[in-house]
Amino acid sequence: MSKRKKPRPRMVAANAQGEIMDHPELLMLCRRGRDLVEPRPDEIMSLPEESELFLLPGRRALGLDPDTGEVAVMEETAVAAFVSPGHTLSGQACFERDGNAPVLPMFAYGAVGFENDRFWVTARKVDEDPRQQFANIPQQRIRQGALRLQKMHPENRLVRHLTTCALTYSCPAARNFALGRYECPLPTSRACNARCVGCLSLQPEDSGFPATQNRIAFTPTAEEIVEVMQAHGERVKEPVFSFGQGCEGEPLTEADLIVEAVREFRARGGRGTVNINTNASRPETMAPLAAAGLTSIRASLCSAREELYTAYHRPQGYGFADVRRTIAEAKANGLFVSLNLLFFAGVTDAEAEAEALIDLVSEHKVDFIQLRNLNIDPDLYLALSENMDLGPSAGLANFRKRLAKACPWVRTGYFNPYVGDR
Ligand code: SF4
Repeated sequence: MSKRKKPRPRMVAANAQGEIMDHPELLMLCRRGRDLVEPRPDEIMSLPEESELFLLPGRRALGLDPDTGEVAVMEETAVAAFVSPGHTLSGQACFERDGNAPVLPMFAYGAVGFENDRFWVTARKVDEDPRQQFANIPQQRIRQGALRLQKMHPENRLVRHLTTCALTYSCPAARNFALGRYECPLPTSRACNARCVGCLSLQPEDSGFPATQNRIAFTPTAEEIVEVMQAHGERVKEPVFSFGQGCEGEPLTEADLIVEAVREFRARGGRGTVNINTNASRPETMAPLAAAGLTSIRASLCSAREELYTAYHRPQGYGFADVRRTIAEAKANGLFVSLNLLFFAGVTDAEAEAEALIDLVSEHKVDFIQLRNLNIDPDLYLALSENMDLGPSAGLANFRKRLAKACPWVRTGYFNPYVGDR
């Protein structure tokens, strides 16, 4: 294998029995936005542990004829990879969609191929942090941890909620709470002032696909929140606590409750990084949250361009200007600011998007960018930007190089970093 270290994986497809087969000749293809391309060597990696393979209903697999360069449409079903946390997709699965194909549920669909006895996927590892790796942890340990917390805090509804999520839905954040390691989830809000197309916790009846998580059904008290924070903090050397989980609405709609809880936690000697994952819609909440002892915020956005931001997040009663103001207020009050950049290859790395992102990061000296995969049916997302001239896409690797060159201070990764109390 001369210059190319990595192979040219062959395509895979699933037969009517759902068995995944590799094709003897045809090569793997991927989508980068609307472009159908053979993935470059710097865009593929062998399928990471704890990833999953999905069969895509009503979608037929595509392959590349290495001799003619022609794209072949198969009768067999297309296959995609849902990569494990810590990995960002550099390309999506490609397929020919049948007219009556259902909308795909909210996952990120990576292109997958096969060569040298292993699966290959269009992804890159962007964070070495092992916090969402559970392969070597017996389920029994998670169970014991959850039952112990339930026994110690029988009246605490938030403990009940999180330990149920750990045992029933295998939520990685809730499992870490049960195990007493890394990041502790603190869902608090039932309401939201946005209507993201790909909202994980609430989908309108007519969206055609279900929410993947149930929204929390109660509002915890400040005392219940503090008790959970103390239960985690006393077991973890460098704890991270995060408001704003997939199973809730927007935490800034409960800013007063969070101020009260964080202030009380700090007053009782609570240590660690207290973070809020947010849609950054309310600039006026940053000063009281910082004064109470908050450490960092993570602002979620699919784009730093108002047009695409608004089309996807569908803000109610606020706009992208408020998101910029919230980031500015957070920095002005000494908070560590991360972006939860919902990465979609072919869109996020497109010229216009990259330029706008670099402008936002530079203007506000954003500290960290989490390159998270946008979990959505690719065709649904591309429809949002079809009339937008985004320009050519650079690819994940070049996009990261450009960001590092333009914003050398900014760190990138996948998870909320521990940054002390601040
Ligand atoms: S901000 Fe979060 S909770 Fe609100 S609509 Fe978007 S994804 Fe859903």
